Amino acid sequence: MKKIPLRQVRIISWTLYALAILLILLGWLLRLFWLIAAALVVMVAAIVFLAIFNRCPRCGRFLGHAGEAAFCPHCGERLDG
Ligand SMILES: [Zn+2]
Repeated sequence: MKKIPLRQVRIISWTLYALAILLILLGWLLRLFWLIAAALVVMVAAIVFLAIFNRCPRCGRFLGHAGEAAFCPHCGERLDG
């Protein structure tokens, strides 16, 4: 599988989360429940995306949802990607 730089993984996942929250708010305000359903799909996609790509480039272990650490908690690899 193609590797995505960690910085881009973070940007993409936060964009997906923001989009999901926006869709939930819109769906709630406009009473369009399919928007809320779509938001849940986007949120699940963001979680799956993080689970696949939010990994240390050296040891390959999952970095967790915080993910903003400067070093891998498992092997100490610098995560400035
Ligand atoms: Zn590591």
